Amino acid sequence: MSEQIEKVKCLIIGSGPAGYTAAIYAARANMNPVLYQGTQPGGQLTTTTEVENYPGYPNGITGPEMMIEFQQQAERFDTDVRDGWITKVDFSGPVHKVWVHDEKEIHCETVIISTGASARYLGLPSEQKYLKLGGGVSACAVCDGFFYKNQEVVIVGAGDSACEEAHYLSKLCTKVTMLVRRDQFRASKIMEARVRNTKNIEILLNTETEEVLGDGQVVTGVKARNNITGEIFEIPATGFFVAIGHIPNTAIFKDYLELDETGYIINIPGTSKTNVEGVFVSGDAADHVYRQAVTAAGTGCMAALDAERYLAAKESPVEA
Ligand code: NDP
Repeated sequence: MSEQIEKVKCLIIGSGPAGYTAAIYAARANMNPVLYQGTQPGGQLTTTTEVENYPGYPNGITGPEMMIEFQQQAERFDTDVRDGWITKVDFSGPVHKVWVHDEKEIHCETVIISTGASARYLGLPSEQKYLKLGGGVSACAVCDGFFYKNQEVVIVGAGDSACEEAHYLSKLCTKVTMLVRRDQFRASKIMEARVRNTKNIEILLNTETEEVLGDGQVVTGVKARNNITGEIFEIPATGFFVAIGHIPNTAIFKDYLELDETGYIINIPGTSKTNVEGVFVSGDAADHVYRQAVTAAGTGCMAALDAERYLAAKESPVEA
């Protein structure tokens, strides 16, 4: 029924640094943004402990605390932050339709997608245990590598991300052991060569993780298995990094937006614009390369500015 359909000028989907930054800018531009937090309010940062590389926090801050501050800043300018998530969209017409929990229908003049991506984990109970404890399991070497300075770490994966992260860790840690489940890398040759040529990276091919070992609080090592010989052995380590890919949270948009082969939304280079007018993307939903809070926030700002300009052009079209 039409009276139940809410009309919104700017709808922001997602509550990580991209979504909240878009909200701050959109709110200050009188776009009355409504932000749906999604299934993981605060996004991926709520699964990290200390964030030390976000400018403006000279003493560091925990990921969850930082996201509360982002939310408070967005609410200070009257962003309507709502609990709940968008389950369906229809971007086929001039009005962009979205549904909350398949029920509530909203018609939006602009939509900013900030749904992020989720790191893939192995799913081992021991991995999940130390991840939840913040005790040495991480899916982001750039975020957490510093905490393992002069220590020994293990990284799982053999794609470009794993190679990049292993190389990054090798500059901080005394030793990096890389567990590759097949007898070959998936990464590009140049990235593979870089890790192979780094002295303190040891590559173990055909090797899988059996268990992440710990003392109940923090990681102390990894039990690994050679999947050819069946040999089981332990590797001492204080950090366990998982770099086996990310899953962009973009499934609900696939019928309307151009996605790349791995599901990331394709934006028009140098902008936050998607292939649908009035629909913008920010943060990790369109970024498989940088994936940092600060870059997500930057693209959130871009999306709000692009949305504002789109609305301004619609309201006062320039005569040709
Ligand atoms: P990929 O999907 O390319 O690689 C995932 C890696 O993890 C593979 O080696 C895979 O092994 C391994 N893996 C998956 N599941 C498991 C498991 N359960 N146990 C052990 N190992 C597992 O993901 P990336 O994140 O590395 O890259 C994603 C995309 O981003 C790629 O297109 C990549 O090129 C790009 N990228 C580009 C960068 C750059 O240009 N600087 C930097 C980082 C990423 P297997 O091969 O056996 O399947």
